Amino acid sequence: MKTIAFIGLGNMGGGMAANLVTAGYKVHAFDLSEDALAKAKEKGCEPFSTVSEAVAEADAVVTMLPNGKIVKSVYTGEVIGKAPKGALFLDCSTIDVATAREVAGLAEDAGYTMVDAPVSGGIAAASGGSLTFMVGGTSEAFAKAQAVLEPMSKAVIHAGQIGSGQVAKMCNNMLLAIHMIGTCEAMALAKRAGLAPQKFYEISSKSTGYNWSLNDYTPVPGVGATSPADYDYQGGFASALMLKDLGLAIDGAHDANATVPLGEHALEIYRAFVEAGNGGKDFGAIFTTL
Ligand code: NAD
Repeated sequence: MKTIAFIGLGNMGGGMAANLVTAGYKVHAFDLSEDALAKAKEKGCEPFSTVSEAVAEADAVVTMLPNGKIVKSVYTGEVIGKAPKGALFLDCSTIDVATAREVAGLAEDAGYTMVDAPVSGGIAAASGGSLTFMVGGTSEAFAKAQAVLEPMSKAVIHAGQIGSGQVAKMCNNMLLAIHMIGTCEAMALAKRAGLAPQKFYEISSKSTGYNWSLNDYTPVPGVGATSPADYDYQGGFASALMLKDLGLAIDGAHDANATVPLGEHALEIYRAFVEAGNGGKDFGAIFTTL
C-alpha cells in the first residue's frame, strides 16, 4: 500500500496526514478549507481540488470529518465508485454508530473494505503520532487497517464488528465527561471545605479517587498535572466537541435501550455551559461553574 487519500485536514487530520507522509506514504489530500490544504502541502501532502480526484489512485482513504452527515455525503457522493475497487476505507471521525454501519455497508456492496476507526487523544496526540484507535470491522479489514494506522498511533485496538469502534468511542467519552465533572466537583468541594486543591490532588491522585481527569489533566489552574486549565482553558478538547460526543452517547443509549442517568446529566451540564458561550473552552473549564 503506497498511496493514501486523506480527506479532512483540520485540527486532527492535519497532524495525522503529516505522520503518514513521514512514514513514507504518498498522501493525496483534500479539505474544503484552502488554508488547511495549504498547511497539508507544507507538510508534504499533495493537494487536490476535489475528493474524487484525491481518491482516484488511492490504495486507502482516510477521513477525519466533523460529523456523520458529512461523512455519509463524502463517501456516497465522492468516494464510493471513485476510489479504485478493493481500496480500504478508514473513517476516523467520531460519528453515530448507525451512520458508521450504513456507510460501511454501502462501501462493501460496492466492492470496498471499510473500518470505523475513531480516536482517543487530542490535537497533540494527532500531531505526535500517539493516538489510540478503536477499530470496528472484520479481522481481515483490521489487519489491513493496522499498517495505515500504526504511524499515527500509540495503540490500535480491534473493538469488534463494524460500528464497534464508534460504540467504544461514545462509551469512553461519556465516561470521560462524567469523571471530569466528578473531579471538578470534588476539587471545588475540597476548596470550599478548607482543603487546598493541591493537597487534595496529592492525596486523591494516590487514593481511590484517581482517574485521568484528576491525575493527568487536572482541571484547576496551577494544581496537579499541566493541562489547558493552566492556559485559561484554551486549546485542549473543546466543550462543544464534548457536547457533540455526549449527544452521540445518549442517542446510542436510546438505540441500545440502555439506561445512562449520569451520561444524561453530564449532557445537560455541558449543554448549559456551551449555550452560555463557552463552547470553545476546554471541557475542564466546567470547574469554573462550581
Ligand atoms: P476540525 O473542524 O478542525 O476539522 C475538520 C475538517 O474537515 C475541517 O478542516 C473542514 O474544513 C473539513 N471538512 C468539513 N467538511 C468537509 C468536506 N465535505 N470535505 C472535505 N473536508 C471537509 O475538527 P477536528 O478537531 O479535526 O475533528 C475531526 C474529527 O475528529 C471529529 O469527528 C471530532 O469529533 C474527532 N475528534 C476530535 C478530537 C479533538 O481533540 N479535536 C479528538 C478526538 C476526536
